[in-house]
Amino acid sequence: MKVRTRVAPSPTGDPHVGTAYVALVNYAFAKSHPDGGEFILRIEDTDQVRSTRESEQAILDSLHWLGLSWSEGPDIGGPHGPYRQSERTAIYQRYVGELLAHGHAFKCFCTPERLEEMREAQRAAKEPPHYDGLCLTYTQEEVARREAAGEPFVVRLRVPTEGACVFEDALRGTITVEWKTVDMQVLMKADGFPTYHLANVVDDHLMEITHVIRGEEWISSAPKHLLLYRYFGWEPPQLCHLPLLRNPDRTKLSKRKNPTSILYYRERGYLADALMDFLGILIDSRNDDPQLIGSPLLSRIVEHFVLGNIALGGPVFDIPKLTWLNGQWIRHRTVASFMELLAAFGFVWPAAIPASQREHIGSIAMSRIETLADFAPSIDFLVNRPEVARRDLELPKLTEDEARSALRSGIDALLTLEDDQWDQAQIGEKFKGAAVALDMKFKDVARLFYIAITGSPTALPLFDDVEILGKHESLRRLENAVEALH
Ligand code: GLU
Repeated sequence: MKVRTRVAPSPTGDPHVGTAYVALVNYAFAKSHPDGGEFILRIEDTDQVRSTRESEQAILDSLHWLGLSWSEGPDIGGPHGPYRQSERTAIYQRYVGELLAHGHAFKCFCTPERLEEMREAQRAAKEPPHYDGLCLTYTQEEVARREAAGEPFVVRLRVPTEGACVFEDALRGTITVEWKTVDMQVLMKADGFPTYHLANVVDDHLMEITHVIRGEEWISSAPKHLLLYRYFGWEPPQLCHLPLLRNPDRTKLSKRKNPTSILYYRERGYLADALMDFLGILIDSRNDDPQLIGSPLLSRIVEHFVLGNIALGGPVFDIPKLTWLNGQWIRHRTVASFMELLAAFGFVWPAAIPASQREHIGSIAMSRIETLADFAPSIDFLVNRPEVARRDLELPKLTEDEARSALRSGIDALLTLEDDQWDQAQIGEKFKGAAVALDMKFKDVARLFYIAITGSPTALPLFDDVEILGKHESLRRLENAVEALH
Protein backbone atom coordinates (compact mmCIF):
# COMPACT_ATOMS: atom_id res chain seq x y z
CA MET A 1 0.00 0.00 0.00
CA LYS A 2 1.30 3.43 -0.86
CA VAL A 3 2.26 5.57 2.12
CA ARG A 4 0.09 8.68 2.38
CA THR A 5 0.61 11.35 5.02
CA ARG A 6 -0.97 14.70 5.57
CA VAL A 7 -0.69 17.93 7.45
CA ALA A 8 -4.07 19.23 8.57
CA PRO A 9 -3.75 22.77 9.88
CA SER A 10 -6.64 24.76 11.30
CA PRO A 11 -6.69 28.23 9.74
CA THR A 12 -7.27 30.14 12.96
CA GLY A 13 -4.29 32.46 13.18
CA ASP A 14 -0.81 33.13 11.90
CA PRO A 15 0.99 30.16 10.35
CA HIS A 16 2.80 28.53 13.24
CA VAL A 17 6.36 27.18 13.08
CA GLY A 18 4.97 24.03 14.69
CA THR A 19 2.81 23.48 11.61
CA ALA A 20 5.92 23.69 9.43
CA TYR A 21 7.69 21.21 11.70
CA VAL A 22 4.82 18.71 11.55
CA ALA A 23 4.49 19.26 7.78
CA LEU A 24 8.20 18.64 7.26
CA VAL A 25 8.12 15.40 9.25
CA ASN A 26 5.11 14.18 7.28
CA TYR A 27 6.69 15.19 3.99
CA ALA A 28 10.02 13.57 4.82
CA PHE A 29 8.38 10.41 6.10
CA ALA A 30 6.32 9.99 2.91
CA LYS A 31 9.17 10.81 0.55
CA SER A 32 11.71 8.68 2.39
CA HIS A 33 9.88 5.57 1.24
CA PRO A 34 11.66 3.99 -1.70
CA ASP A 35 8.54 3.92 -3.87
CA GLY A 36 7.76 7.55 -2.94
CA GLY A 37 4.81 8.22 -0.68
CA GLU A 38 2.33 11.04 -1.08
CA PHE A 39 2.06 14.04 1.19
CA ILE A 40 -1.19 15.97 1.13
CA LEU A 41 -2.58 19.09 2.77
CA ARG A 42 -6.04 19.38 4.28
CA ILE A 43 -7.59 22.45 5.85
CA GLU A 44 -9.45 21.70 9.08
CA ASP A 45 -11.76 24.68 9.36
CA THR A 46 -14.49 23.08 11.46
CA ASP A 47 -14.22 25.98 13.90
CA GLN A 48 -16.43 28.31 11.90
CA VAL A 49 -15.94 31.22 14.26
CA ARG A 50 -12.16 31.30 14.35
CA SER A 51 -11.29 30.04 10.87
CA THR A 52 -10.52 32.58 8.15
CA ARG A 53 -9.54 32.43 4.49
CA GLU A 54 -6.70 34.89 5.17
CA SER A 55 -5.21 32.52 7.69
CA GLU A 56 -5.59 29.59 5.28
CA GLN A 57 -3.84 31.54 2.53
CA ALA A 58 -1.05 32.58 4.88
CA ILE A 59 -0.50 28.93 5.87
CA LEU A 60 -0.32 27.79 2.25
CA ASP A 61 1.98 30.67 1.31
CA SER A 62 4.28 30.08 4.26
CA LEU A 63 4.63 26.36 3.61
CA HIS A 64 5.31 27.05 -0.08
CA TRP A 65 7.81 29.73 0.89
CA LEU A 66 9.62 27.12 2.97
CA GLY A 67 9.87 24.93 -0.12
CA LEU A 68 7.25 22.33 0.79
CA SER A 69 4.78 21.04 -1.76
CA TRP A 70 1.88 18.63 -1.59
CA SER A 71 0.30 16.48 -4.22
CA GLU A 72 -3.29 17.17 -3.13
CA GLY A 73 -4.75 20.15 -1.34
CA PRO A 74 -7.36 22.91 -1.38
CA ASP A 75 -5.25 24.99 -3.77
CA ILE A 76 -4.62 22.23 -6.31
CA GLY A 77 -7.46 19.77 -5.79
CA GLY A 78 -6.99 16.03 -6.15
CA PRO A 79 -8.94 12.79 -6.31
CA HIS A 80 -10.14 12.90 -2.68
CA GLY A 81 -11.39 16.49 -2.56
CA PRO A 82 -12.66 18.83 -1.44
CA TYR A 83 -9.69 19.37 0.90
CA ARG A 84 -11.39 22.02 3.03
CA GLN A 85 -13.60 20.53 5.72
CA SER A 86 -16.17 23.33 5.55
CA GLU A 87 -16.98 22.04 2.05
CA ARG A 88 -17.53 18.47 3.21
CA THR A 89 -20.46 18.93 5.58
CA ALA A 90 -22.76 16.60 3.65
CA ILE A 91 -20.17 13.83 3.85
CA TYR A 92 -19.95 14.09 7.64
CA GLN A 93 -23.72 14.17 8.01
CA ARG A 94 -23.95 10.89 6.14
CA TYR A 95 -21.46 9.26 8.50
CA VAL A 96 -23.10 10.68 11.62
CA GLY A 97 -26.34 9.16 10.36
CA GLU A 98 -24.59 5.81 10.14
CA LEU A 99 -23.28 6.05 13.70
CA LEU A 100 -26.70 7.02 15.03
CA ALA A 101 -28.40 4.20 13.14
CA HIS A 102 -26.07 1.67 14.77
CA GLY A 103 -26.32 3.19 18.25
CA HIS A 104 -22.65 4.22 18.23
CA ALA A 105 -23.64 7.81 18.79
CA PHE A 106 -26.60 9.51 20.44
CA LYS A 107 -28.44 12.79 20.33
CA CYS A 108 -27.87 15.01 23.31
CA PHE A 109 -30.44 17.71 24.12
CA CYS A 110 -28.74 19.11 27.21
CA THR A 111 -28.86 22.88 27.29
CA PRO A 112 -25.70 24.95 27.85
CA GLU A 113 -27.09 25.85 31.29
CA ARG A 114 -27.51 22.21 32.29
CA LEU A 115 -24.00 21.37 31.05
CA GLU A 116 -22.58 24.26 33.05
CA GLU A 117 -24.35 23.09 36.22
CA MET A 118 -23.06 19.58 35.62
CA ARG A 119 -19.47 20.84 35.23
CA GLU A 120 -19.84 22.99 38.30
CA ALA A 121 -20.87 19.94 40.34
CA GLN A 122 -17.96 17.93 38.90
CA ARG A 123 -15.53 20.69 39.80
CA ALA A 124 -16.89 20.76 43.32
CA ALA A 125 -16.51 16.97 43.56
CA LYS A 126 -12.96 17.30 42.11
CA GLU A 127 -13.87 15.11 39.15
CA PRO A 128 -12.49 15.77 35.68
CA PRO A 129 -15.12 17.43 33.49
CA HIS A 130 -17.06 14.93 31.43
CA TYR A 131 -20.53 14.40 30.03
CA ASP A 132 -22.61 12.46 32.56
CA GLY A 133 -24.68 10.51 30.02
CA LEU A 134 -28.14 11.88 30.87
CA CYS A 135 -29.42 11.78 27.29
CA LEU A 136 -28.28 8.18 26.91
CA THR A 137 -31.06 7.23 29.30
CA TYR A 138 -33.82 8.62 27.07
CA THR A 139 -36.11 6.21 25.30
CA GLN A 140 -36.54 6.38 21.53
CA GLU A 141 -39.95 7.99 22.06
CA GLU A 142 -38.47 10.65 24.30
CA VAL A 143 -35.81 11.45 21.72
CA ALA A 144 -38.41 11.60 18.95
CA ARG A 145 -40.65 13.85 21.04
CA ARG A 146 -37.86 16.32 21.79
CA GLU A 147 -36.80 16.38 18.18
CA ALA A 148 -40.37 16.94 16.99
CA ALA A 149 -40.66 19.80 19.46
CA GLY A 150 -37.67 21.41 17.72
CA GLU A 151 -35.25 21.10 20.63
CA PRO A 152 -31.70 21.67 19.44
CA PHE A 153 -29.31 18.76 19.91
CA VAL A 154 -25.73 17.73 19.36
CA VAL A 155 -24.54 14.22 18.51
CA ARG A 156 -22.19 12.56 20.96
CA LEU A 157 -19.94 9.53 20.74
CA ARG A 158 -20.97 6.48 22.74
CA VAL A 159 -17.96 5.33 24.76
CA PRO A 160 -17.53 1.92 26.43
CA THR A 161 -17.79 2.09 30.20
CA GLU A 162 -15.35 -0.72 30.86
CA GLY A 163 -11.96 -1.84 29.65
CA ALA A 164 -9.28 0.21 28.01
CA CYS A 165 -8.17 1.46 24.63
CA VAL A 166 -4.74 0.02 23.85
CA PHE A 167 -2.87 1.33 20.85
CA GLU A 168 0.61 1.58 19.40
CA ASP A 169 2.27 4.92 18.83
CA ALA A 170 5.18 4.76 16.37
CA LEU A 171 7.40 6.78 18.72
CA ARG A 172 5.97 6.02 22.13
CA GLY A 173 5.15 2.34 21.98
CA THR A 174 2.01 0.94 23.61
CA ILE A 175 -0.38 3.46 25.12
CA THR A 176 -3.25 2.36 27.32
CA VAL A 177 -6.16 4.62 28.17
CA GLU A 178 -9.08 3.45 30.28
CA TRP A 179 -12.41 4.03 28.58
CA LYS A 180 -13.92 5.45 31.72
CA THR A 181 -11.53 8.43 31.40
CA VAL A 182 -12.68 9.13 27.83
CA ASP A 183 -15.42 11.70 27.43
CA MET A 184 -18.52 11.26 25.28
CA GLN A 185 -17.19 13.61 22.67
CA VAL A 186 -19.50 15.87 20.66
CA LEU A 187 -19.20 14.73 17.04
CA MET A 188 -21.70 17.08 15.48
CA LYS A 189 -22.75 20.47 16.76
CA ALA A 190 -26.31 21.76 16.91
CA ASP A 191 -25.80 23.67 13.65
CA GLY A 192 -25.01 20.44 11.80
CA PHE A 193 -21.29 21.15 11.56
CA PRO A 194 -18.93 18.38 12.60
CA THR A 195 -16.31 18.74 15.31
CA TYR A 196 -12.64 18.20 14.62
CA HIS A 197 -12.76 14.58 15.84
CA LEU A 198 -15.40 13.33 13.45
CA ALA A 199 -14.17 15.26 10.43
CA ASN A 200 -10.58 14.24 11.08
CA VAL A 201 -11.35 10.52 11.20
CA VAL A 202 -13.74 10.51 8.25
CA ASP A 203 -11.28 12.46 6.14
CA ASP A 204 -8.22 10.46 7.06
CA HIS A 205 -10.12 7.35 6.04
CA LEU A 206 -11.58 8.73 2.81
CA MET A 207 -8.27 10.34 1.88
CA GLU A 208 -6.54 7.00 2.44
CA ILE A 209 -4.07 8.33 4.97
CA THR A 210 -1.84 5.49 6.14
CA HIS A 211 0.14 7.35 8.82
CA VAL A 212 -1.19 10.10 11.06
CA ILE A 213 1.82 12.03 12.33
CA ARG A 214 0.85 14.99 14.47
CA GLY A 215 1.62 16.91 17.65
CA GLU A 216 1.55 15.23 21.03
CA GLU A 217 -1.36 17.43 22.14
CA TRP A 218 -3.59 15.01 20.21
CA ILE A 219 -2.65 11.86 22.15
CA SER A 220 -5.69 12.18 24.37
CA SER A 221 -7.93 12.31 21.28
CA ALA A 222 -6.52 9.09 19.88
CA PRO A 223 -8.89 6.74 21.79
CA LYS A 224 -11.94 8.63 20.50
CA HIS A 225 -10.58 8.46 16.98
CA LEU A 226 -9.76 4.76 17.24
CA LEU A 227 -13.23 4.10 18.58
CA LEU A 228 -14.70 5.79 15.52
CA TYR A 229 -12.54 3.65 13.24
CA ARG A 230 -13.84 0.58 15.06
CA TYR A 231 -17.49 1.69 14.83
CA PHE A 232 -17.14 2.37 11.12
CA GLY A 233 -15.31 -0.92 10.58
CA TRP A 234 -12.31 0.86 9.08
CA GLU A 235 -8.63 0.00 9.36
CA PRO A 236 -7.05 2.76 11.48
CA PRO A 237 -3.87 4.47 10.30
CA GLN A 238 -0.58 4.10 12.16
CA LEU A 239 -0.47 6.84 14.81
CA CYS A 240 2.58 8.87 15.72
CA HIS A 241 2.59 11.79 18.13
CA LEU A 242 5.52 14.15 17.76
CA PRO A 243 7.08 16.02 20.66
CA LEU A 244 6.01 19.66 20.83
CA LEU A 245 8.46 22.44 20.09
CA ARG A 246 9.65 24.05 23.31
CA ASN A 247 10.90 27.40 24.54
CA PRO A 248 14.47 27.30 25.91
CA ASP A 249 12.95 26.98 29.40
CA ARG A 250 11.28 23.78 28.14
CA THR A 251 7.75 25.12 28.34
CA LYS A 252 5.56 24.61 25.29
CA LEU A 253 6.52 27.03 22.52
CA SER A 254 4.16 29.93 22.84
CA LYS A 255 3.98 33.35 21.36
CA ARG A 256 4.05 34.93 24.78
CA LYS A 257 7.69 33.88 25.09
CA ASN A 258 8.91 33.58 21.51
CA PRO A 259 7.68 34.61 18.10
CA THR A 260 5.92 31.54 16.68
CA SER A 261 4.64 32.85 13.36
CA ILE A 262 6.45 31.86 10.18
CA LEU A 263 5.49 35.32 8.89
CA TYR A 264 7.48 36.92 11.70
CA TYR A 265 10.64 35.12 10.65
CA ARG A 266 10.09 35.91 6.98
CA GLU A 267 9.48 39.58 7.70
CA ARG A 268 12.50 39.73 9.98
CA GLY A 269 14.75 38.59 7.13
CA TYR A 270 15.23 34.93 7.90
CA LEU A 271 15.78 32.77 4.84
CA ALA A 272 13.40 29.91 4.11
CA ASP A 273 16.43 27.63 3.78
CA ALA A 274 17.71 28.57 7.22
CA LEU A 275 14.36 27.99 8.89
CA MET A 276 13.95 24.64 7.13
CA ASP A 277 17.49 23.63 8.00
CA PHE A 278 16.77 24.52 11.61
CA LEU A 279 13.59 22.41 11.62
CA GLY A 280 15.55 19.59 10.00
CA ILE A 281 18.04 19.75 12.87
CA LEU A 282 15.19 19.63 15.40
CA ILE A 283 13.96 16.49 13.66
CA ASP A 284 17.34 14.77 13.63
CA SER A 285 20.56 16.12 15.08
CA ARG A 286 22.53 14.38 12.32
CA ASN A 287 21.38 17.26 10.15
CA ASP A 288 23.36 19.58 12.43
CA ASP A 289 26.51 19.76 10.37
CA PRO A 290 27.94 23.12 9.24
CA GLN A 291 29.46 21.35 6.22
CA LEU A 292 25.95 20.79 4.94
CA ILE A 293 24.98 24.45 4.92
CA GLY A 294 24.32 25.55 1.38
CA SER A 295 23.72 22.03 0.07
CA PRO A 296 20.28 21.06 -1.27
CA LEU A 297 18.21 20.91 1.83
CA LEU A 298 14.95 19.07 1.44
CA SER A 299 16.47 16.10 -0.35
CA ARG A 300 19.08 15.80 2.38
CA ILE A 301 16.47 15.89 5.18
CA VAL A 302 14.45 13.26 3.31
CA GLU A 303 17.51 11.11 2.72
CA HIS A 304 18.47 11.21 6.42
CA PHE A 305 14.95 10.73 7.67
CA VAL A 306 14.24 7.96 10.17
CA LEU A 307 11.02 8.38 12.11
CA GLY A 308 12.43 6.57 15.14
CA ASN A 309 15.29 9.08 15.39
CA ILE A 310 12.96 11.84 16.51
CA ALA A 311 13.88 12.37 20.14
CA LEU A 312 10.91 12.60 22.45
CA GLY A 313 12.71 15.03 24.76
CA GLY A 314 11.12 18.06 23.11
CA PRO A 315 13.02 20.03 20.49
CA VAL A 316 14.03 23.48 21.69
CA PHE A 317 13.29 26.39 19.40
CA ASP A 318 16.54 28.20 20.04
CA ILE A 319 16.38 31.53 18.22
CA PRO A 320 20.09 32.44 18.60
CA LYS A 321 20.93 29.14 16.90
CA LEU A 322 18.44 29.83 14.11
CA THR A 323 19.90 33.32 13.70
CA TRP A 324 23.43 31.94 13.48
CA LEU A 325 22.31 29.42 10.87
CA ASN A 326 20.64 32.21 8.95
CA GLY A 327 23.91 34.14 8.75
CA GLN A 328 25.61 31.01 7.44
CA TRP A 329 22.97 30.51 4.76
CA ILE A 330 23.33 34.15 3.71
CA ARG A 331 27.09 33.72 3.35
CA HIS A 332 26.65 30.68 1.17
CA ARG A 333 24.88 32.75 -1.45
CA THR A 334 26.63 34.27 -4.43
CA VAL A 335 26.58 38.05 -4.36
CA ALA A 336 24.14 38.07 -7.26
CA SER A 337 21.69 35.79 -5.50
CA PHE A 338 22.12 37.72 -2.25
CA MET A 339 21.14 40.86 -4.17
CA GLU A 340 18.05 39.05 -5.47
CA LEU A 341 17.13 38.01 -1.95
CA LEU A 342 17.40 41.60 -0.79
CA ALA A 343 15.13 42.76 -3.59
CA ALA A 344 12.59 40.01 -2.83
CA PHE A 345 12.76 41.04 0.81
CA GLY A 346 11.66 44.51 -0.28
CA PHE A 347 14.93 46.34 0.22
CA VAL A 348 15.17 49.48 -1.90
CA TRP A 349 18.60 51.01 -2.44
CA PRO A 350 18.91 54.64 -1.39
CA ALA A 351 19.24 56.83 -4.48
CA ALA A 352 22.46 58.28 -3.06
CA ILE A 353 24.22 54.94 -3.59
CA PRO A 354 25.12 54.61 -7.27
CA ALA A 355 24.22 51.34 -9.00
CA SER A 356 27.88 50.72 -9.78
CA GLN A 357 28.71 50.41 -6.08
CA ARG A 358 25.84 48.20 -4.98
CA GLU A 359 27.36 44.84 -5.67
CA HIS A 360 30.51 45.77 -3.79
CA ILE A 361 28.46 46.93 -0.82
CA GLY A 362 26.34 43.77 -0.98
CA SER A 363 29.42 41.58 -1.04
CA ILE A 364 30.93 43.08 2.09
CA ALA A 365 27.66 43.37 3.99
CA MET A 366 26.67 39.77 3.38
CA SER A 367 29.67 38.63 5.35
CA ARG A 368 28.59 40.59 8.41
CA ILE A 369 24.83 40.37 8.77
CA GLU A 370 22.68 37.69 10.39
CA THR A 371 19.34 38.47 8.78
CA LEU A 372 18.24 40.42 5.71
CA ALA A 373 16.66 42.97 8.02
CA ASP A 374 20.14 43.81 9.30
CA PHE A 375 21.22 44.97 5.87
CA ALA A 376 19.61 48.44 5.73
CA PRO A 377 20.93 49.54 9.15
CA SER A 378 24.34 48.10 8.34
CA ILE A 379 24.79 50.41 5.35
CA ASP A 380 23.02 53.45 6.74
CA PHE A 381 26.34 55.15 7.56
CA LEU A 382 27.19 55.19 3.85
CA VAL A 383 24.29 57.54 3.24
CA ASN A 384 24.05 59.40 6.50
CA ARG A 385 27.25 60.95 7.82
CA PRO A 386 27.52 59.93 11.47
CA GLU A 387 27.60 62.50 14.25
CA VAL A 388 30.75 61.76 16.17
CA ALA A 389 31.28 63.33 19.59
CA ARG A 390 34.41 63.54 21.73
CA ARG A 391 33.29 60.75 24.05
CA ASP A 392 32.84 58.37 21.13
CA LEU A 393 36.51 58.81 20.31
CA GLU A 394 37.86 58.26 23.81
CA LEU A 395 39.68 54.96 23.73
CA PRO A 396 41.37 53.30 26.69
CA LYS A 397 44.74 52.86 25.02
CA LEU A 398 45.07 56.28 23.40
CA THR A 399 45.49 59.74 24.86
CA GLU A 400 43.60 62.50 23.17
CA ASP A 401 46.79 63.81 21.61
CA GLU A 402 47.65 60.41 20.22
CA ALA A 403 44.17 60.04 18.82
CA ARG A 404 44.39 63.40 17.13
CA SER A 405 47.81 62.63 15.68
CA ALA A 406 46.63 59.28 14.38
CA LEU A 407 43.65 60.84 12.66
CA ARG A 408 45.83 63.58 11.15
CA SER A 409 48.35 61.06 10.00
CA GLY A 410 45.53 59.07 8.37
CA ILE A 411 44.32 62.17 6.59
CA ASP A 412 47.82 62.99 5.32
CA ALA A 413 48.35 59.46 4.10
CA LEU A 414 45.05 59.32 2.23
CA LEU A 415 45.78 62.67 0.62
CA THR A 416 48.74 61.13 -1.15
CA LEU A 417 46.48 58.70 -3.00
CA GLU A 418 45.42 59.76 -6.48
CA ASP A 419 41.82 59.14 -7.51
CA ASP A 420 42.79 56.19 -9.68
CA GLN A 421 44.57 54.60 -6.71
CA TRP A 422 41.47 54.76 -4.57
CA ASP A 423 40.85 51.12 -3.82
CA GLN A 424 40.59 49.26 -0.57
CA ALA A 425 44.03 47.57 -0.87
CA GLN A 426 45.92 50.83 -1.28
CA ILE A 427 43.75 52.58 1.27
CA GLY A 428 44.64 49.81 3.72
CA GLU A 429 48.34 50.28 3.05
CA LYS A 430 48.06 54.01 3.69
CA PHE A 431 46.21 53.56 6.98
CA LYS A 432 48.73 51.01 8.20
CA GLY A 433 51.62 53.23 7.09
CA ALA A 434 50.09 56.15 8.98
CA ALA A 435 50.09 54.12 12.19
CA VAL A 436 53.65 52.91 11.71
CA ALA A 437 54.86 56.48 11.11
CA LEU A 438 53.62 57.30 14.60
CA ASP A 439 55.15 54.20 16.08
CA MET A 440 51.74 52.66 16.68
CA LYS A 441 50.14 49.41 15.65
CA PHE A 442 47.27 49.75 13.25
CA LYS A 443 45.09 47.52 15.39
CA ASP A 444 45.44 50.02 18.26
CA VAL A 445 44.04 52.83 16.16
CA ALA A 446 41.67 50.87 13.92
CA ARG A 447 38.76 51.43 16.27
CA LEU A 448 39.34 55.16 16.13
CA PHE A 449 39.18 55.20 12.33
CA TYR A 450 36.16 52.98 12.39
CA ILE A 451 34.27 55.35 14.63
CA ALA A 452 35.36 58.40 12.65
CA ILE A 453 34.31 56.90 9.33
CA THR A 454 31.25 54.84 10.23
CA GLY A 455 30.11 56.09 13.63
CA SER A 456 30.41 52.59 15.06
CA PRO A 457 33.26 50.34 16.16
CA THR A 458 31.73 47.32 14.46
CA ALA A 459 30.68 48.33 10.98
CA LEU A 460 31.51 46.84 7.58
CA PRO A 461 35.25 46.45 6.77
CA LEU A 462 36.92 49.84 7.07
CA PHE A 463 39.03 49.99 3.92
CA ASP A 464 36.05 49.03 1.78
CA ASP A 465 33.96 51.67 3.52
CA VAL A 466 36.55 54.33 2.72
CA GLU A 467 36.76 53.19 -0.88
CA ILE A 468 32.96 53.31 -1.25
CA LEU A 469 32.60 56.67 0.48
CA GLY A 470 35.27 58.20 -1.77
CA LYS A 471 38.11 60.54 -0.98
CA HIS A 472 36.19 63.69 -0.36
CA GLU A 473 33.65 62.20 2.04
CA SER A 474 36.19 60.05 3.88
CA LEU A 475 38.50 62.99 4.50
CA ARG A 476 35.56 65.05 5.62
CA ARG A 477 34.65 62.44 8.24
CA LEU A 478 38.23 62.18 9.49
CA GLU A 479 38.41 65.98 9.74
CA ASN A 480 35.16 66.03 11.69
CA ALA A 481 36.64 63.58 14.16
CA VAL A 482 39.73 65.77 14.58
CA GLU A 483 37.38 68.69 15.19
CA ALA A 484 35.45 66.71 17.79
CA LEU A 485 38.64 66.22 19.75
CA HIS A 486 39.39 69.98 19.99
N1 GLU B 1 -6.32 20.43 12.83
C1 GLU B 1 -5.41 19.82 13.75
C2 GLU B 1 -4.30 20.83 14.08
O1 GLU B 1 -4.41 21.94 13.66
C3 GLU B 1 -4.81 18.58 13.14
C4 GLU B 1 -4.50 17.53 14.13
C5 GLU B 1 -4.23 16.24 13.40
O2 GLU B 1 -3.26 16.23 12.64
O3 GLU B 1 -4.99 15.31 13.55
O4 GLU B 1 -3.37 20.54 14.76
